[in-house]
Amino acid sequence: MNTEPAPANPFSTPASARLEGRRSRALRLALLSVALVALGSLLWSARRRPAAPDPVVREFSVFDSYARITLWSSPERAEPALRECTAVLAELHRTLNRFDPSSELARLNAAAAGQAFACSPQLWDVLQAARQAYAQTAGAFDITVGPLMAVWGFHRKRDTLPTEAEIQAALACVGLARVAFDDTAHTVRFTVAGMSLDCGGLAKGYALDRVLAILARAHLEPALVDLGGNVGCSTQPPPGRPHFVIGVRNPFATETLLGRLPIVGRTVSTSGNYERRIIIQGKEIGHIIEPRTGHPVSGPAGVTAVTPRGVDSDVFSTAVYVAGKELAEALAEHVPGTGFVLVSGSPDAPELTRVGDLHRLEDTTAPPARRP
Ligand code: AMP
Ligand code: MG
Repeated sequence: MNTEPAPANPFSTPASARLEGRRSRALRLALLSVALVALGSLLWSARRRPAAPDPVVREFSVFDSYARITLWSSPERAEPALRECTAVLAELHRTLNRFDPSSELARLNAAAAGQAFACSPQLWDVLQAARQAYAQTAGAFDITVGPLMAVWGFHRKRDTLPTEAEIQAALACVGLARVAFDDTAHTVRFTVAGMSLDCGGLAKGYALDRVLAILARAHLEPALVDLGGNVGCSTQPPPGRPHFVIGVRNPFATETLLGRLPIVGRTVSTSGNYERRIIIQGKEIGHIIEPRTGHPVSGPAGVTAVTPRGVDSDVFSTAVYVAGKELAEALAEHVPGTGFVLVSGSPDAPELTRVGDLHRLEDTTAPPARRP
């Protein structure tokens, strides 16, 4: 659990790519992710099945998070694709790290109020995903939350809670409808000064899709990818198994699991305030903001989204955390293969609400992995 005031965003520390050795080990431990559990289950089952080949596992740091790619292939076959994956991820980080003034997103934020900013194909593609997310979630997911993140102390530490006047002033600079996109020239212009874009709610999911696509193109399936808790797996299950097993973290006690999802060809993302929050004047402020009111969201405790596309699971978990079960139901109805686990209640009595296509959610009291 991180209660540090800043940096608050997955793209907040420029030096992240150099994390190595003991520091990266500490990071790994701190960022215990759902995929660790998934892999643990797989290895547990692999021990009982001596015929299955050892997977190739690549661990690294990206977006200030722990990442892991697991492939059931020879290291020689896996290496070129793994190199391509890490290069693409580094490039995405360089583009979207809004706290690095030289990143393309930071340059857009600095310039787009004055004149239209011409986007690279990569940034334009991410922004199209953000526009779709805004439309699909009726504005619950909105990358223009930048001014609200700032006013609530996520960019620079503050000692007092913002006044309602400050929140209203920030809100006047929020709303994707206030951004002018030129679909021919691929430019972006802010119609209001003081706007800023924050891709922290979808970047890892977007990156996950890029990685899964590289691995599929290289015929490196089965594959299991964890980018800082955004987990995706191939349609082809691991050798000798009917599916992958992804753990759903307990938002009240993040080292424990509430359930396990047996999946293939899906991505999983979890949003919740336990991940990142700050305390101002004794009040806990979560990092997910309701963009229509300008206030941080206080519940449910956590939302896990399961969808075919990584960008969707990242967007949907954040958006359903903001807008609740009704949005989960609408998304599950309109986006095939989508399901949610909403966790509410209390630490002593967590309540799980399942929505949509979840295949099934295994009880965590069951053994870690079952034989098919
Ligand atoms: P996630 O961890 O994927 O749920 O994303 C949370 C991050 O997305 C926050 O740290 C902010 O950078 C950003 N964010 C906060 N509220 C929203 C929102 N309503 N829509 C889009 N992005 C948001
Ligand atoms: Mg998200």
